[in-house]
Amino acid sequence: MAGGEDDAAALGGRDAGAGAAETGVAARAYLDENDGGAVAHDEIDLAAAHAEIARQQPLTVTREVGLRPRLGFAPACHGGIVGFCLHLREMTEESAALYVVPTPLGNLGDLTARAADVLRAVAWVAAEDTRHSAPLLKHVGATARLMPAHRHNENEAAARIVAHLQAGESVALVSDAGTPGISDPGARIVAAVRAAGCRIVPLPGPCAAVVALSAAGLADAHFLFYGFLPAKAGQRREALAELRAQSCALVFYEAPHRIRETVDDLAAVLGERTLVIARELTKLYESIHSGPLREAGAWLDGDANRQRGEFVLVVSGAGPAGGSGDGERALALLLEEGLPVKQAARIAAALSGESKNALYAAALRLREGAAPS
Ligand code: SAM
Repeated sequence: MAGGEDDAAALGGRDAGAGAAETGVAARAYLDENDGGAVAHDEIDLAAAHAEIARQQPLTVTREVGLRPRLGFAPACHGGIVGFCLHLREMTEESAALYVVPTPLGNLGDLTARAADVLRAVAWVAAEDTRHSAPLLKHVGATARLMPAHRHNENEAAARIVAHLQAGESVALVSDAGTPGISDPGARIVAAVRAAGCRIVPLPGPCAAVVALSAAGLADAHFLFYGFLPAKAGQRREALAELRAQSCALVFYEAPHRIRETVDDLAAVLGERTLVIARELTKLYESIHSGPLREAGAWLDGDANRQRGEFVLVVSGAGPAGGSGDGERALALLLEEGLPVKQAARIAAALSGESKNALYAAALRLREGAAPS
């Protein structure tokens, strides 16, 4: 008889979507009434089956307490047999929760199915701007009551949310766009809810920084999310000077009325880098421009529309030459003297104030360059 492994290989060899759908039907047929929980994992790619079945899970009153493996076989439409292994969630009654719900950045289609389910299931939605969020709730058919939870009332909102949770009513926390708590109100509310011993359930979803990074195409292995730089020029330049030696990509949010001066300051303080300007992500006039940081100001000036809308700026990290050059000069001398790479990088970083990691990477490159081929 065809086993799970054989059929998994066979599925992998065909169109993946068709395979998932076919096995999803088999999986659904296999679930009996008592297995009304969700499929959490299987040994072949059942993304479609997961989505279908997971949506049957009630949102506010259940909690996963374990995974129960169940093997099964079902007829495939080509005449063979499909084997599958489901790990069924065992659910139990659970208390109310604060759901942290990301909302679209501009494209309503980016609200996840789970986010919509949560908004429909909860008793309350705590929103940064209730007028802004009301149409979204209407769009998904949610009838939850709205309460304000913005920068200026976060503490009172937190107390009110904790009271609702303790009374057994679940609450969804949303901001105007993207993920609450990311350059948005939410962190204090989450902290207060945790301190009160109530449950917090974060949902994955839209976040402008992550969307921009996914399209930036920079080689940096790491990134630092900074959010908004200070509005005042002097403070902004100081903040940038502190970031100059960072070898990871830097991610900033910026408003249209400051984009031009911020790009000038980035170029003045950080020097030669690559800058990705991600504008109006997920919206009609989305544009993603990548080029040398020192040329970005002229690019923005090239068309008035390029300075309109919402911006994420992603700057490539400091290379070894991203600092003053002192670090790399010290490094070269120390390596010449025969110091091990790690020690040389540490001393060069201490002498120059530049990033130890960047100098370590530079030391490895210098070593490789010096090695006889
Ligand atoms: N919490 C949000 C998130 O998860 O991305 C960020 C909220 S913050 C108040 C708003 C800033 O995010 C905007 O000024 C802009 O820098 C960035 N942003 C939000 N939506 C954007 C979009 N569609 N395109 C580019 N940047 C966006």
